[in-house]
Amino acid sequence: AVPVALVAGLSRAAQYGVLIKGARPLEAMAHIRTLILDKTGTLTDGRPRITQITPQNDLAEDDILRLAAAADQASKHPVAQAIVTEAQARGLSLPLPRAMEEHPGEGVMARIEGRRVLVGGEDFVASQIEGPVPPRPALDAGAVLVAVAIDGQMAGHLVMADPLREGVGTLLAGLKHQGVERILLATGDRREVAERVTRGLGLDGLRSGLSPDQKVLLVLTEGKSGPVMMVGDGVNDAPALAAADVGVAMGARGAAASAEAADVVLVQDRIDGLAPGLEIARRARAIAV
Ligand code: ADP
Ligand code: MG
Repeated sequence: AVPVALVAGLSRAAQYGVLIKGARPLEAMAHIRTLILDKTGTLTDGRPRITQITPQNDLAEDDILRLAAAADQASKHPVAQAIVTEAQARGLSLPLPRAMEEHPGEGVMARIEGRRVLVGGEDFVASQIEGPVPPRPALDAGAVLVAVAIDGQMAGHLVMADPLREGVGTLLAGLKHQGVERILLATGDRREVAERVTRGLGLDGLRSGLSPDQKVLLVLTEGKSGPVMMVGDGVNDAPALAAADVGVAMGARGAAASAEAADVVLVQDRIDGLAPGLEIARRARAIAV
């Protein structure tokens, strides 16, 4: 039988938008030593906005944007959604791709109007094309850079702002007081971007350029020194969430795969639910034993 204290804990957590899927994860949450956080959509707001479009050669901003958005319209990645939103705001009509292939955490490739369009991180796009990668635009702090290539040639960059969620610094400091020993960032994005965005947060470590599989490896490696909680969003974090002692999915924004793989869902898409979540778990345990 499940002790009454655990049942009460689950329902109290739910009041904070922290959906804990049963007694096992609630208990495991009381022992977490290492917290691993995804960046885009988890630590950051996850609703990036395009701030600048820098076309290559004689292309127009809208040419790049239209093809990039067409390629990304079926993707649930927050970066993809930002691209589609901007294209719609500019009244561009998006052709349907003949074929689209998503490389989780890297980008997409699609066939549109007879052209091969690549949209994604710089390393991913550069790895798929021949010829030189042109200079990148100067970036603001925290800017995310997306590269676009058309028919094997760099077509330009989309610069995005994806600010940290409000109160993240306070939240992380508080979690340390609650007994979390190490807080690490795990991101598919580039090191420079990750460093700029998280400056001043006092993280204990930062791993960048990770594929979904490498996030799993990180979780398993960290797991050797104590229970790990992994917080992420989107399809690309689902395997890492499943590998963690406690996988936490940011809720609300569509990615059913991560919510399904998770032990805990932050249903209001508010990462600050972690603090009451851990507190409730610790108290439920204290009462149950
Ligand atoms: P994080 O691990 O921080 O959440 P992701 O691994 O999801 O970040 O994505 C890292 C980078 O890969 C993004 O910043 C973006 O440049 C690129 N990317 C991933 N998926 C897409 C996509 N569907 N469209 C465009 N770019 C993408
Ligand atoms: Mg993410």
